[in-house]
Amino acid sequence: MSTAEEVPATIDLALANRHLEGMSAEERIQWAVDRFGEHAVILSSMQKTSSVLMHLFYKLSLENEILFVDTGFHFHETLQFRDEFMRRYKLNIVTLYPTNTPEKQEELYGRKLHLFVDGQPECCDMRKKRPFNKHMKTNGRKLVMNGMRRSEGGRRAKIDFLEVDPSINGFKLNPLLDWSEEQLETYLKENNVPVHPLHAKSYPSIGCACCTTPVAPGEDERAGRWRHLKTDEDEGPRYCGMNYSDGSGI
Ligand code: SF4
Repeated sequence: MSTAEEVPATIDLALANRHLEGMSAEERIQWAVDRFGEHAVILSSMQKTSSVLMHLFYKLSLENEILFVDTGFHFHETLQFRDEFMRRYKLNIVTLYPTNTPEKQEELYGRKLHLFVDGQPECCDMRKKRPFNKHMKTNGRKLVMNGMRRSEGGRRAKIDFLEVDPSINGFKLNPLLDWSEEQLETYLKENNVPVHPLHAKSYPSIGCACCTTPVAPGEDERAGRWRHLKTDEDEGPRYCGMNYSDGSGI
């Protein structure tokens, strides 16, 4: 594995993206590890795309970190799924925690932040983004992989495989960017990969328990996220801000 000193200081993004376009997801991950060594990690939400990425790490026998941020508000099914996945594939899943417990945060702020339109961004920032950024910085991690796909639409329809991520002073790689929903399902089925049990209970998108509901047939996949903050005039928050390309950046 590379050391911190061997991490490439600069990358020709356009050239790298041309290379990555023609590769399989597995080859894209290997490309990242060849260049960034142990400083290439996955950020896992434990959702379907994370199952694929984590399984690809297993296939490639990678010991690189798979980061999971335990906000203190997760469904117990999410934590159980993390543990089961880790035991089954013997992966290096590292759980990160926010500075304050949910109780301490409520005491400090005098309210449950997630219940308020002006409190949710701060709650997501403190409970997800800061522990993640702190870990990346403290350990010199320089490239984070996640399961974003162009077919999800919105801002995600326009992103590249490899992008600069100023929030971590490094890069973000999307190995599944060109995958369709059908490809995802096929991969999971053919490789017998377990998925989060709530996906089968009308939760296509899963975040914190207090900010996620099931969706009704015909609803948008993300309609169940922060439903309590949506109004007739405003569709409310769509993403938690963990992904720089979703507009969470500086
Ligand atoms: S999803 Fe809700 S509970 Fe979880 S960190 Fe964001 S605002 Fe807080």
